[in-house]
Amino acid sequence: MLETGLDTQGNDEEVGKLTDGFHLIIDALKLNGINTVYNVPGIPITDLGRHMQANGMRVLSFRHEQAAGYAAAIAGFLTKKPGICMTVSAPGFLNGLTALAHATTNCFPMILVSGSSEREIVDLMQGDYEEMDQLAIAKPLCKAAYRILHVEDIGIGIARAYRAAVSGRPGGVYLDLPASLLGQTIGADAGAKSLVKVIDGAPAQIPSPEAIERALDVLKSAKRPLIILGKGAAYAQADIEIRAFIEKSGVPYLPMSMAKGLLPDTHPQSAGPARSLVLKEADVVMLIGARLNWLLSHGKGKAWGEASKKFIQIDIEPREMDSNVEIIAPLVGDIDSCVKALLQGMGEAWSKPPASWINQVSAKKDNNVARMASKLQNNNVPMDFHGALGALSRIIAERPDTVLVNEGANTLDFARSIIDIHKPRKRLDVGTWGVMGVGMGQAIAAAVETGSPVLAVEGDSAFGFSGMEIETIARYDLPICVVVFNNGGIYRGTDANLSGGTDVATTVFVKDIRYDKMMEAFGGSGYNATSPDELRRSVIEALDSGKPSLVNAVIDEEAGTESGRIGNLNPQSVVSKKQAT
Ligand code: ADP
Ligand code: MG
Repeated sequence: MLETGLDTQGNDEEVGKLTDGFHLIIDALKLNGINTVYNVPGIPITDLGRHMQANGMRVLSFRHEQAAGYAAAIAGFLTKKPGICMTVSAPGFLNGLTALAHATTNCFPMILVSGSSEREIVDLMQGDYEEMDQLAIAKPLCKAAYRILHVEDIGIGIARAYRAAVSGRPGGVYLDLPASLLGQTIGADAGAKSLVKVIDGAPAQIPSPEAIERALDVLKSAKRPLIILGKGAAYAQADIEIRAFIEKSGVPYLPMSMAKGLLPDTHPQSAGPARSLVLKEADVVMLIGARLNWLLSHGKGKAWGEASKKFIQIDIEPREMDSNVEIIAPLVGDIDSCVKALLQGMGEAWSKPPASWINQVSAKKDNNVARMASKLQNNNVPMDFHGALGALSRIIAERPDTVLVNEGANTLDFARSIIDIHKPRKRLDVGTWGVMGVGMGQAIAAAVETGSPVLAVEGDSAFGFSGMEIETIARYDLPICVVVFNNGGIYRGTDANLSGGTDVATTVFVKDIRYDKMMEAFGGSGYNATSPDELRRSVIEALDSGKPSLVNAVIDEEAGTESGRIGNLNPQSVVSKKQAT
């Protein structure tokens, strides 16, 4: 029998002419260019992580699987390769599942790899250690789910998971690895031959010439055209072509939050500060890698105004067309191929939109920017969102390579519009679900995958979901500065318990928390900032150090509105809050 595991010196020695499940999994991942894994160790995958590390892979251990999963999901977004999250069975698997569903919802390629218990016992429901039919549970929450039972299927199983994650519309894939698979042996030669390298995992999907012509005809006919860039456009990494297309078209564009920076937010064609106007007034809207979901009010209703609209949509997923409103010019294909074909089809002489439209958008934009300017310069104590975010916005402008991670309610809404982004894929946030707790995982993966400094701007509530991961940040000595916008509660810190009882209100935290002390406890640097000037100094010092740091930014506890800008989504009781008490 082959001895698996490490020898007494901790070396990972090759034994005999056999290989096993542990090593074939590693070989298969490496063959496919996967060298980083986000995990929480435990039975049965602890040794798998050890062997991965011994074989030159980067294995980052988290404190909770959900954060490891969010890291893997955003690694997929940043690299176009599946991010790998590895968990133990049942409870660890379930903890990772939220992130897998999040990856699928956001169209990020990710593979959740979970160890599982003995099939024979699980299937007879005989009560194994951490018994659960994980494959069945994962299936409805991801793009594809596979289980590998035999060592000779590892090569094909991993290739299948890889291809499912990255091809077509990217998404989450579940890969179930029963404990007994890991120790199975096979001849080293047969094992090597069983590996599969995925060739052309996300093949170009070339749009039809008719679809290109149709789209250009509609765009040409527009009096008030608008382009909307979504995170699919950021994912596509067709940055040069997208910029060339937008500039050649002369059309104002609106970036969705994670598409900010695809063209710098300071670009003259950016219609960001005139969002309401362009949505209402546009007569032709071209969507590039953005869905007409709730984030765009489903393409209809008040936000879109009275003017009738024609929609052009570029998406790799054919079923996205006509999902909410009629798409008069569907362009099914990958964004890179579509945008290249559009550029070619435009020819030399493309006439830009009417000056009246461009001037109307610019005037609105200038007006809104001017109105905000003084608010963003304020040095109020206690800080409000504008003063604090104005300071951070200036830092990002000076350091455009910094990756901005952002979550919270008010902290998210204000930062999204206040902080300009200057380069592609430099803003990572809560995505399609508006999920809280993604920030620490995203910050860690951004630092690991890009090597860039990271500034994570976090609401105090959002931070709390995965705050313990600052130990992970400290352990790997990552160049991450976390800024906690501390207003003492969810939305704000001033709510009262309507019963008059002794418990604080449901949305209120302990007063005057010093989150910076948490980072100090793990050996990183902590700062307490009470004014925008102090915040600026702290963040600059932290970023210059390139070390783990946390700035407790003390925000007025009265600042902040219920659910930020989406308070309208809260159902209202017919009995008023006062009457109910
Ligand atoms: P946002 O929230 O920023 O508006 P969405 O997540 O709603 O963005 O939309 C992203 C869209 O991009 C999805 O419909 C997805 O199918 C599409 N997409 C992702 N990658 C590509 C690609 N390479 N080519 C074309 N479409 C893509
Ligand atoms: Mg708060």
